[in-house]
Amino acid sequence: MVYAFVFLAVIVTCSMIACISYLQHAKMRERVAMQTMLGVSSASLAFYFLGMFVEQYFLSMLFFGMYFWLSSIHILTFLNVSESYNVVYRRARILKILAVLLSGADFLFLVLNSFFEIAFSVNRIRVDDNFAYHCFVAKFPGFFIHLSVFYIYMILLLSALIIKARKTIKLYRSKYTILTIAVLITLAVNVIVSNISLPVDFSGVLYAGLSMLIVYLILSVIPRAEAESIVKYSLDGISNGIICFNKDNICVYVNKVARELFHLMGNEIAIETTFGAWLEARNPQDIPYQTFQEEKNIGGVKIYYDTTYNPLVDETNNYFGCVFSMRNKTEDVQALAAERERAELDSLTGVYNRESFFSKVKEILNEDTNKKWILVCTDIKDFKTYNALFGEKQGDEILVNAARILNEDNREDIFVGRLVSDRFVVCVPEEYFDESMLLERLKKICSCVKSDMFKLHIHAGIYPIHDYSMEVSVMCDHAYLAVRKIKDDYGVMTTWYDANVGADHRNTKLMIGEFEKALEEGQFQMFLQPQLSGSGEILGAEALVRWIHPSKGLIPPIEFIPVFERAGLIHKLDQYVWRMACSKLSAWQSEGKGHLYISVNISPLDFYYVDIHEYITNLVQEYKIDPKSLKLEITETAIVNEAADNLLVIDKLRQSGFEVEIDDFGSGYSSLNTLKDIEVDAIKLDRIFLKETSHKEKSKVIMDNTIIMSKQLGIKVVSEGVETKEQVDYLVDAGCDVFQGYYFDRPISVPAFEEKYLMNH
Ligand code: C2E
Ligand code: CA
Ligand code: CA
Repeated sequence: MVYAFVFLAVIVTCSMIACISYLQHAKMRERVAMQTMLGVSSASLAFYFLGMFVEQYFLSMLFFGMYFWLSSIHILTFLNVSESYNVVYRRARILKILAVLLSGADFLFLVLNSFFEIAFSVNRIRVDDNFAYHCFVAKFPGFFIHLSVFYIYMILLLSALIIKARKTIKLYRSKYTILTIAVLITLAVNVIVSNISLPVDFSGVLYAGLSMLIVYLILSVIPRAEAESIVKYSLDGISNGIICFNKDNICVYVNKVARELFHLMGNEIAIETTFGAWLEARNPQDIPYQTFQEEKNIGGVKIYYDTTYNPLVDETNNYFGCVFSMRNKTEDVQALAAERERAELDSLTGVYNRESFFSKVKEILNEDTNKKWILVCTDIKDFKTYNALFGEKQGDEILVNAARILNEDNREDIFVGRLVSDRFVVCVPEEYFDESMLLERLKKICSCVKSDMFKLHIHAGIYPIHDYSMEVSVMCDHAYLAVRKIKDDYGVMTTWYDANVGADHRNTKLMIGEFEKALEEGQFQMFLQPQLSGSGEILGAEALVRWIHPSKGLIPPIEFIPVFERAGLIHKLDQYVWRMACSKLSAWQSEGKGHLYISVNISPLDFYYVDIHEYITNLVQEYKIDPKSLKLEITETAIVNEAADNLLVIDKLRQSGFEVEIDDFGSGYSSLNTLKDIEVDAIKLDRIFLKETSHKEKSKVIMDNTIIMSKQLGIKVVSEGVETKEQVDYLVDAGCDVFQGYYFDRPISVPAFEEKYLMNH
């Protein structure tokens, strides 16, 4: 037993000395404290040895006394070690003084024991052939004095550890718990060992062991555990999901984000299997660093993430595991999609803008060339006027409503776009297209305007896509061409594109190309339609142009006027007609038949291109005719839409002696309002009022009242489109002044007119 003890003690002491020198290089706060603790522990063991093997009884007593004293000092040094990173008693100076005093007293007490044997005694025992001193404490109540000092230190130490373990955050708690447990175990073993009567006291070896255990814990285990915890917390704290596998493809770590990501995906166990299987299927050390993009659908919500595979190799390039790092980029993807959507969508109405509509349609057409599609283009009639009347805000509202209604299906394969201003396009698979449904929608859009002044009209052109190689913009043009065909027709809202429309389009281009030549060659002729009084007396005529085309024959103005208007050519034609009218008036005048007037049309667009006042006053001067004999018909829209500037021109013309009439009065929307703002000589009731419509009665009421009001304002009333005797009678009764219409005559050539209306006068 003694040899065993000696052997153990030697090993422990040597280890402690090794430890002390090893610690010399350790860069840590606790170094000196730990060295002191180990030193004291070794010293106490050494004294035990000396006490055992010294020759003299007195010295043995003294050395054993030192051994006991150093045992309790050892506890103090341990307390010091724990204090050096623990700092529980920093402010308890009294405690420190008390500890010093106590150890002083203990020291004195144990030294005195060598003389008086009050705490323990020694006796010699035989160890093989040699003798050794054995220390015994039984029957010495005085030993309890030393023991209580030891336990006071022990209590101080344990309470320091326990206080700290309780106070500290969870992460560090284990560190103090480990130390507390180590002390408690040592203490328990010590108590057990002390109570078995052994020839040697193992407590010194035990405490030395404890010292080394503590050094080991502080030096290695605790920092590692701490580091692990810190790493774990850091990895849990970062926004990426981290999944670590060892080289056997076993998952060793999954951080919180990865767990959440997979939990979101409905299956946490999936981590191990998904990634494990991925690794199993490959040779992990041969897979290079790589990132793959994935998306998952969880409960209808799409989650996007990047997963990066990162193999781990040591200094010598040996693979020892890997890390999958997952970045949830759903928010980024959503933000990007939103951004793209914003760029693709029309900011006002939320439907596709022009470019994205074209590219979207192109895309879907390319996707499946067997699928049949229909393209619909809608156009709101006189949207500009609506804007002018009600303001842009209300106009915008119409557009928003129109977009919403056209997009009501909200299907992924129906595309709605806004090309410009009030022009929408819809691309719909043929199988879903239903013309009556379209009509319903258009009516719904129209019903959004609840004004008595303005009735919204919307038209739609339907173009079945045949040629998939055609530019989408051209397809839209086709659909729009179809719209144009019915643009002025209030009764028809939808129409199909047919080749004729396309032909119309080509025709348009042709007409524009031929215009200048036709003008030079005198292909345009002025026809005259008589205007008569209620009693049938001829008053004058309206000049209505005709194009006598060398190959196509007579072309009515309805076919070319709008074309030339759009082409910016109308003013040239008008100037030409005005000149012909003046020249004819001048001729009549010189023939002594100057009592008839000719009424000419002024296009709203003429105001842009010509100084109408200057041109027309020059004309009458040139032909030396009375301005009164050249009446000017200006359409209502020229007055309503363009307002101020045009009104000035009209005023000036009237001041120069011309009579100005508002043409097509009542076809616009604020006719009555117009009269308030403008001084004119006559209004020409739109022929729509005389059309046989279901609103006949209403039309009459309006005409009656318009005539009454005009009379009150001193404005003459001209009726056009008079086709029947009844109409004449009715209009005469109502108080209309001038009549024009097929009932009397169609527009006829000048010679025909002259023959019929001038010869007899
Ligand atoms: P507008 O100025 O309203 O001319 C009256 C139109 O009504 C003429 O059509 C005439 O033929 C037609 N009309 C006359 N009586 C009747 C009738 O009893 N029943 C029906 N259903 N129609 C009748 P036209 O000549 O085809 O001219 C159409 C439009 O072309 C004109 O409408 C006018 O806006 C424009 N236009 C004609 N000549 C000129 C011109 O020299 N310059 C400009 N800027 N526009 C012109
Ligand atoms: Ca006219
Ligand atoms: Ca008219």
